[in-house]
Amino acid sequence: MTDKTRNKPNFSRHLIAVTVAMVLSTCAENPVTGDRELTFVSERQEISLGQENYQPTQQSQGGQWKIDPELTAYVSEVGQRVAAQSPRDLPYEFVVLNNSVPNAWALPGGKIAINRGLLTEFSNEAELAAVLGHEVVHSAARHGAQSMERGLLLQGALLVTTVAARDNEYAGVIVGGAQLGAQLINTRYGRDAEREGDLYGTRYMAEAGYDPAAAVSLQETFVRLSEGRTPPGWLDGLFASHPPSTERVQNNRELVAQLRAEGYTNGELGEQRYQQRTARLRETQPAYEAFDEAYALLSDDKVEEAERKLDTAIAMVPQEARFYGLKADIALMQRRYGAAIESYNQALARDDAYFDYYLGRGLAYSRQGNESRARADLQASVDLLPTALAMNELGTMALAANDRGAAKQYFEQAATAPGELGARAQAAYMRLDVADNPGNYVQAQAFVGQGGKIQVRVVNRAPVDLTDIELELQASVGREGVRRAIAVRGLASGQSRDVDSGLTLPAETDPQTVQAQVVVRRATVN
Ligand SMILES: [Zn+2]
Repeated sequence: MTDKTRNKPNFSRHLIAVTVAMVLSTCAENPVTGDRELTFVSERQEISLGQENYQPTQQSQGGQWKIDPELTAYVSEVGQRVAAQSPRDLPYEFVVLNNSVPNAWALPGGKIAINRGLLTEFSNEAELAAVLGHEVVHSAARHGAQSMERGLLLQGALLVTTVAARDNEYAGVIVGGAQLGAQLINTRYGRDAEREGDLYGTRYMAEAGYDPAAAVSLQETFVRLSEGRTPPGWLDGLFASHPPSTERVQNNRELVAQLRAEGYTNGELGEQRYQQRTARLRETQPAYEAFDEAYALLSDDKVEEAERKLDTAIAMVPQEARFYGLKADIALMQRRYGAAIESYNQALARDDAYFDYYLGRGLAYSRQGNESRARADLQASVDLLPTALAMNELGTMALAANDRGAAKQYFEQAATAPGELGARAQAAYMRLDVADNPGNYVQAQAFVGQGGKIQVRVVNRAPVDLTDIELELQASVGREGVRRAIAVRGLASGQSRDVDSGLTLPAETDPQTVQAQVVVRRATVN
């Protein structure tokens, strides 16, 4: 392994697993479409991919909405009712995410999520069933797995979560294996997959007893929404992956006519039930609008106005953890660490399963010098969602505690982040690893030069400049062994230099009888 490959960011181990599995590709029938296709992501892999990435992907999209657990139960009921019509018996799961952007997504293996910001756009249960049916098809027809098989995922790409709240732009940079889930939900499946989603999703909802006409009214709503106001983040959501169009409306209309001809004529819309079961959601909507406004004000540096909006939101829905979380983020940004910790405590008292509160509180504790609490919180945040910011902070703390091995692992992960944070983490990693394994970075070879002088060619293979390189030449000429220390004060990255060892072979020595090796004892990154 050369030092170059050593220092590349680690790709997800899933992608590696998939690459290995490529050799084991099989030709199989797509369970939804009936098409024969080459697959190398097995069903077992699909299911475990979905299971492993479900939690971190939810975290990266705002975490679950916990104000009304009965809403999640309701969405699950509708989802399971539609999923039961799919030909694939996957471990389907449905959750509601605390996110105002109208969006829904599916991971392989039947792991599905819908944002509260989309649920507020439906007028009946059948429209919800249409969206969930569409997502069920993405899972059942292996659309996510196909993206992986076709190499559509960007290896090592960095994904920024939508909730990078505090002023530090790296707070939401996901590192490590959790990138895979974020990529899967941000990759466009393509038009064929979207058509399949509409086609079979609508069929499943009709088979489940819903009026398929809801698939048409839903698309009309989407077209209307996409033509109207476009709040920030809107286009990154549903409409980026599911572009609405009048063509889609028309296709769905024809599909509904066909389903009606097949006898699906008395399906239900479930309008009243939907209005009842989502009452709390609509009731709390103004509070989230105030919260979203606070967010926007904050990015315009209007901190005081943002805080006023947050207080309004808190007064309306005091149980919502996120409002306290943003309050805490503001305090952290202003270096009011005590106040930040207090607000994070209030957030965590309301929801103890969202990475951002632990990350923020961990940073606040760290700034206060409370290392044990900082470490516990940062670790808790990383367990929920690994971010570059948490990894870098943990690395710095591990280094301060003289745990070089742990520090290296943290820095190596944080080093995959873009910009200054990534560069700093990379430098910190290199400083440690060059000191521990100088031989991986400095290449040194002895050769016999003019006049029988033994010389050493030194090459710096590290991506950084090195100083204080110490080498030891171990040579044997005939029966005699010689050791000679060689020092190179500095060598730029990629440069090589020939250094005289000070040893000269006796005049009639056959160079073939000379054995020499060079050991790299030390190298330093400044
Ligand atoms: Zn879709």
